[in-house]
Amino acid sequence: MSTARKLKVMASVSNSLSFKHGLSLWCPQSPSLHRIRHSSARNFQRRGFVVAYSSFANENREFVIVGGGNAAGYAARTFVEHGMADGRLCIVSKEAYAPYERPALTKGYLFPLDKKPARLPGFHTCVGSGGERQTPEWYKEKGIEMIYQDPVTSIDIEKQTLTTNSGKLLKYGSLIVATGCTASRFPDKIGGNLPGVHYIRDVADADALISSLEKAKKVVVVGGGYIGMEVAAAAVGWKLDTTIIFPENHLLQRLFTPSLAQRYEQLYQQNGVKFVKGASIKNLEAGSDGRVAAVKLEDGSTIDADTIVIGIGAKPTVSPFERVGLNSSVGGIQVDGQFRTRMPGIFAIGDVAAFPLKMYDRIARVEHVDHARRSAQHCVKALLSAQTHTYDYLPYFYSRVFEYEGSPRKVWWQFFGDNVGETIEIGNFDPKIATFWIDSGKLKGVLVESGSPEEFQLLPTLARSQPFVDKAKLQQASSVEEALEIARAALPAEAAV
Ligand SMILES: Cc1cc2nc3c(=O)[nH]c(=O)nc-3n(C[C@H](O)[C@H](O)[C@H](O)COP(=O)(O)OP(=O)(O)OC[C@H]3O[C@@H](n4cnc5c(N)ncnc54)[C@H](O)[C@@H]3O)c2cc1C
Repeated sequence: MSTARKLKVMASVSNSLSFKHGLSLWCPQSPSLHRIRHSSARNFQRRGFVVAYSSFANENREFVIVGGGNAAGYAARTFVEHGMADGRLCIVSKEAYAPYERPALTKGYLFPLDKKPARLPGFHTCVGSGGERQTPEWYKEKGIEMIYQDPVTSIDIEKQTLTTNSGKLLKYGSLIVATGCTASRFPDKIGGNLPGVHYIRDVADADALISSLEKAKKVVVVGGGYIGMEVAAAAVGWKLDTTIIFPENHLLQRLFTPSLAQRYEQLYQQNGVKFVKGASIKNLEAGSDGRVAAVKLEDGSTIDADTIVIGIGAKPTVSPFERVGLNSSVGGIQVDGQFRTRMPGIFAIGDVAAFPLKMYDRIARVEHVDHARRSAQHCVKALLSAQTHTYDYLPYFYSRVFEYEGSPRKVWWQFFGDNVGETIEIGNFDPKIATFWIDSGKLKGVLVESGSPEEFQLLPTLARSQPFVDKAKLQQASSVEEALEIARAALPAEAAV
């Protein structure tokens, strides 16, 4: 069966503003026009809005963000920094909580209950990058209107209105779509919705998983990517019999080399995790109580499980914004280097945005929190100030596992750049390891496990500068420290750190 099949189974330019009519558009095609007219437009907004807001309360909003996730939290902070949040900004969220650092859900949130698991308000944005903790009270203090548990169900682009699930009609001036992704699910007919089968995207999902883990004996994690790796590491922390199943040959196939993956797999095995690789799932079977009881594989074998966590990827949540313009190659909502869609006054940020990845001259969607933060900040600055430069993102991925108290080995890796070309691996994993990706003699990407803060700090400089490195010299390095020094010495003078 092909990998694809296996994966399938696995599952106005109006430069004048009138808030009475909800128009606050400017020309997205012309940065200079945008820049010139913007400040006068903003002054007009300030004068007009107060009156309109009080008389059209619950209808006219100057700035609306749809989605209350990571990107929305950082966008809100940037609005506040520009003095443009108070009485002007509204965030419409599907969730019951103010924006939080979503990565915590498969890390600190899943720590065993006796090992101080993370709980809200402990990980509201922006704890991940410094700054104030944005609790629900923070939004109130800053005059930001939060609409919780009321997803937007439709948009009228001509009238500039949004309708929410509860029937609210919201008129927007400028709109930022920050709807993120939705976890890919197994179809109903193969047991994808049986009790005991979990997907993890938000706090409600994580809470449901925790209540299953409290009673669980045998956990199966489907998927060998970030979510699978993190959930499996968490499950062994609960001392549960844990098996991880995936169709590929090794963990995190999209990034790890086979050799690097082998080191992590050994560590997982030492922690008691069992692996079923190259497997495709036929269906999930229910027991007599109706709860999931086993995973049936295509080869006819079955693996008993009372709790199953599916981590097979996610899809950009484009609905109901398809008309704003979709990207056919990477999915998501197509934007330019300022996060402007083709519709004047409508922007998209975070996981859902298909943006020009300037460094590698391609269109990309990046499902990572660092991009959620940076895209939000870049978009809001472009919207509110004279900023016109193009977003220039350097891909950065990380994961942290086995970090709970008492774990024999805590794991934290960071990767920067592009994983193209040949690879050189240095180090023994214990205590650390590095992989360098070299293409046409240039250092294109670098991953370090268990680096020091200084070593991690060097990685983005290396990946952005792409120095020519002496491969033979690098290969002979006897330690990660020495290899990083060789790479550092290859940096051009202006980039050296
Ligand atoms: C469990 C988990 C672990 C992760 N771990 C890492 C990690 O270790 N490192 C890393 O870099 N990244 C990680 N990520 C990815 C990272 O969290 C995302 O890239 C980031 O959250 C994207 O931010 P966002 O605002 O675009 O989307 P989200 O944070 O997903 O927010 C989108 C929000 O929009 C809401 N929404 C959707 N549709 C509507 C609608 N119609 N109306 C109103 N609201 C709507 C959603 O409910 C959600 O609240 C992880 C993701 C998950 C799920």
